[in-house]
Amino acid sequence: MTLVYCGHCGQELTGSGHEDCRTALSMEPPRYCDQCRRRMVVQVHPMGWAARCSVHGEIHG
Ligand SMILES: [Zn+2]
Ligand SMILES: [Zn+2]
Repeated sequence: MTLVYCGHCGQELTGSGHEDCRTALSMEPPRYCDQCRRRMVVQVHPMGWAARCSVHGEIHG
């Protein structure tokens, strides 16, 4: 799967400029689906998190 959008800021992942986003995403759930840029429904659990896109399903961290 190719990542199209930045899960943190929602901008297209073309070129650079998302280093800070990548750092943030290593510590917190994504806000946007990296395939379609929809807002993710995020649930934080004691063991981590789950972020759900209505089209692309759930990812866990
Ligand atoms: Zn970004
Ligand atoms: Zn999606």
